[in-house]
Amino acid sequence: MSIIRRCTSCNKYTMKEKCPDCSSKTINPEPPKFSPQDKYGRYRRQMKREIEMKKG
Ligand SMILES: [Zn+2]
Repeated sequence: MSIIRRCTSCNKYTMKEKCPDCSSKTINPEPPKFSPQDKYGRYRRQMKREIEMKKG
């Protein structure tokens, strides 16, 4: 399992928590929480559930 991270300062890709070039903090560039599709999907599911609850 390899996690690719990206430097917040120079945008260099690395697998370390600190950039080997500038020693800045690195982040995971694709956190699953920020997927807009998933966000809308969850929202829609929640709406549906609320409608079904109101119906009884
Ligand atoms: Zn860097």
